[in-house]
Amino acid sequence: MLHRLSRHRGRATIVVLLGIVGTVLVLVLPAVARHFTDVVIGERRPDLVLPTALVGLAAIAARQSLLALRSLTAQSLESRLVHELRIEMFDRLQRQPVRWFDRNRSGEIMSRVSTDVPNVQKLLTETLDIALPALLQFVVVLAAMFWQDWRLALVTIAPLPVIALVTWRHSKVAEPQWRESGEATAELHALLHDSLSGIRQIKAYTGEPEALDRFTDASQTTRSKYMRVMRGQSLIWPGVSILAEAGIIAMVAFGSWRVLQEQMDAGVLFYFLFAWGFLFEPISKINPLSQTLNRGTASAKRVAEILDRPPEDNLTEGARPETLRGEVRFEHVSFSYDPDSPAVTDISLEAKPGETIALVGPTGAGKSTLLHLIARFYEPDSGRILLDGRPLPELSKEWLRDRIGYVTQESFLFNASLRDNLRLARAGASDAEILDALEAANALGFVEELPDGLETFAGERGTRFSGGERQRLSIARALLRNPPILLLDEATSALDNRTEKLVQQALERLRSDRTSFVIAHRLSTIEAADRILVLKDGQLVQSGTHAELIGQEGLYRNLHRGGGFQSSASSS
Ligand code: ADP
Repeated sequence: MLHRLSRHRGRATIVVLLGIVGTVLVLVLPAVARHFTDVVIGERRPDLVLPTALVGLAAIAARQSLLALRSLTAQSLESRLVHELRIEMFDRLQRQPVRWFDRNRSGEIMSRVSTDVPNVQKLLTETLDIALPALLQFVVVLAAMFWQDWRLALVTIAPLPVIALVTWRHSKVAEPQWRESGEATAELHALLHDSLSGIRQIKAYTGEPEALDRFTDASQTTRSKYMRVMRGQSLIWPGVSILAEAGIIAMVAFGSWRVLQEQMDAGVLFYFLFAWGFLFEPISKINPLSQTLNRGTASAKRVAEILDRPPEDNLTEGARPETLRGEVRFEHVSFSYDPDSPAVTDISLEAKPGETIALVGPTGAGKSTLLHLIARFYEPDSGRILLDGRPLPELSKEWLRDRIGYVTQESFLFNASLRDNLRLARAGASDAEILDALEAANALGFVEELPDGLETFAGERGTRFSGGERQRLSIARALLRNPPILLLDEATSALDNRTEKLVQQALERLRSDRTSFVIAHRLSTIEAADRILVLKDGQLVQSGTHAELIGQEGLYRNLHRGGGFQSSASSS
């Protein structure tokens, strides 16, 4: 954070300077008290009552104005820092490899942005706004006390080492406790996120009581972790107060004794009585502050875990060839998500530019995995994939993904306008281009009927649209990108005949002239493919055209006979 702070040196300097001046003005009040005692009363000068009081008032007004200005500047500085931090987090998050997202739950990640970043903000706010000025005030007042009477000052601060030791020991225990409390909160967020995403399943299976139980357990854990920290917090403060207040008694006793011995003016004792408030004011802030400090440090560590993660490698660096024919070759590729269960084993295949390759096989056979490997969401464990004869790791991922159209089965739409959803494929595409793409995807009809047209919001995950509409919208998205390579996971859900025809037609347009890998569920797609690859348990068991494969004994014929493919609308 200090490094980040240094980018805003100007503002930070203003904050510190205003703080220093405001703090030094603190010393005017004890001095006024001493002046009243020693001069106004001691020398019997009624004419000085008003001027001395006015000096005190002016100092109070000036101090508070400066502090207000300082606080305002500090707030603006902090909000800026936190804004930058949030953006940096988001950017860092979305540059993590897909594998990282497999391993971390979204709710947990969200909690780092939604809970931990504000905690860090509080840490900053209170350090800048409270701790630094408090520390400064403490040092200044202490120095003034020593200058007035060093013996009395020593007695006054006698409890301080003990206070420091106690709070230091306490923070050693509290910080890990705060960390655990933060983790429990993240857990709770993860559960909430999970339950909300699966709300339809929960309702359909009347799983509300079980979901509530799970949430109650997680909430209870969060509560007990929190209470554990708070118990410590509530005990430490009375302890510190007892020590601090014992100090004031010692100070008055020793001070009175020195005045009686005529070693010190009574004014000095008054000076100390006033100054004591200012000396211990910072310490009274230690309690809430140590809490924010410990919690903030724990959160800052969780934030740093994200910020320190290197982004997905090879994202921007790597070759960016001028042209791409679209020839894809797999050479003995094996890959597993988890070390002991291979997803695909020893796959070799070749797709010539413009060919359509249909991938068929039972679920879990590894079809989607092949698409993920082409898009480099994951890297093969062994073997290699070549594009136009160049191994993928030589190419920049950004360049590669710019040239891939990926149409997934669920046809995900973001809760943004249709225009923005389509522009994901090509930033800055004009409305005319978008409408062209919609037309080619047979989606223009229903989009034109929407009262808000391209401005229509898609709803969360695109729920505003029907399955068939979403499919065509995501086909339009791919068409807009006009990629040389197409990865297509054909939807399994059955559509009515008319919609089915519209979608099929759109897909044909999309596939033409591109190297296409299609996870095919429909007979019409399979029959139209240049080559069919049959996968089973991660292995390539058959390949050929429909006519060839249907003539052979094997999985393909079994799938075909057993109704493993949906017959398309045109042939039904
Ligand atoms: P298909 O697309 O043919 O249904 P997949 O390629 O999705 O098959 O899956 C192949 C195997 O890899 C399956 O056993 C599946 O459980 C596993 N798998 C798929 N995705 C992941 C993942 N993100 N993490 C762990 N295992 C996965």
